[in-house]
Amino acid sequence: MLDGTMLLDRRAFIGTVVAAAAPLLLGPLGGCRREGALDTALPESDMDRSDGEPAACALIYDPLFLEHLTPPGHPERAARLTAILDRLEADGLLHRLLRLRARSCEDEDLLRCHLPGYLEQLEREVARGRRRLSTGDVSLSERTSEVARRAAGGAMAAVDAVCRGSARRAFAALRPPGHHATPQTGMGFCIFNNAAIAARYAQAVHDVERVLIADWDVHHGNGTQDIFEADPTVFYFSTHQSPWYPGTGAAHEVGVGPGEGTVLNRPFPAGSGREQVLGAFEDDLVAAMQRFEPQLVILSAGFDSRRGDPLGHFTLDDEDFADLTALMRNLADEHAGGRLISVLEGGYDLEGLASATAAHVGALL
Ligand SMILES: [Zn+2]
Repeated sequence: MLDGTMLLDRRAFIGTVVAAAAPLLLGPLGGCRREGALDTALPESDMDRSDGEPAACALIYDPLFLEHLTPPGHPERAARLTAILDRLEADGLLHRLLRLRARSCEDEDLLRCHLPGYLEQLEREVARGRRRLSTGDVSLSERTSEVARRAAGGAMAAVDAVCRGSARRAFAALRPPGHHATPQTGMGFCIFNNAAIAARYAQAVHDVERVLIADWDVHHGNGTQDIFEADPTVFYFSTHQSPWYPGTGAAHEVGVGPGEGTVLNRPFPAGSGREQVLGAFEDDLVAAMQRFEPQLVILSAGFDSRRGDPLGHFTLDDEDFADLTALMRNLADEHAGGRLISVLEGGYDLEGLASATAAHVGALL
């Protein structure tokens, strides 16, 4: 689909992916929004279940996530979330989840990961009606800033759920995604780094010291690495396609200064799948966690590493995601009192995204 020189160019990324994804929009889920599953996804329970047994898994979702609008043909679209919710409902999973809304996210929560000037720039550009963020390939619409903030609040709500004991594990079905967002740069469809904000929030509010962020999205989470590469309290592990967007994540990138040794990148060529990705999780990540001993596990769950995704060339299938999820559960059980949250990142083939997410959520339950 792309040649090597185009892979690292951000504009090539979006231009190519829009073209590649366009046929998908012809399907029945191509519309932005539909009723039905969304209604049933509204929360049924309060956050506070501290008196009772924790639910096996919470689902964090907010209808506001649909209000970040992207141009026709754009792969990162609201239909991604409706496809997921429809599939969870069809598979009988939705009613088994503790359904929670996102919580509010204040400036102080964002500023643990992002610079004040970036927050101001985003607000300014949205207010001016810009349709594209000047820092990178991110679409803007009237409510984008509000939605992005709520998405970060969704990841924080997942932290609250597992740290307060209302659920053992939590999956946040949110958008826009986050792992490409650096302290001062929105890019790769990402505005705020949801997983990173969740990690810092857990440290600030829930007395968690060491956090693992594991990332199986087909793209490297350059933003997450940027934020934590000098921080020994947050371990970032990523498997991703290389060479590919955004061009970071080489094996020799292992963290800097006091954070040296708490970044672990496992890049693999196009065509890689279960053997490489699950192998890296089983061997490299498990061994690293014996030393790091995380107290909270966060998963940057991108399903564009699934076979058939228009934005990647990995070959993972739904069963592989279930097995990866089981491995992450074991890691969380062994080191982190079972506390595992999963935050949606990429995944742009609606059918594949929905079925892989259902496999993932089924393994979280
Ligand atoms: Zn991705």
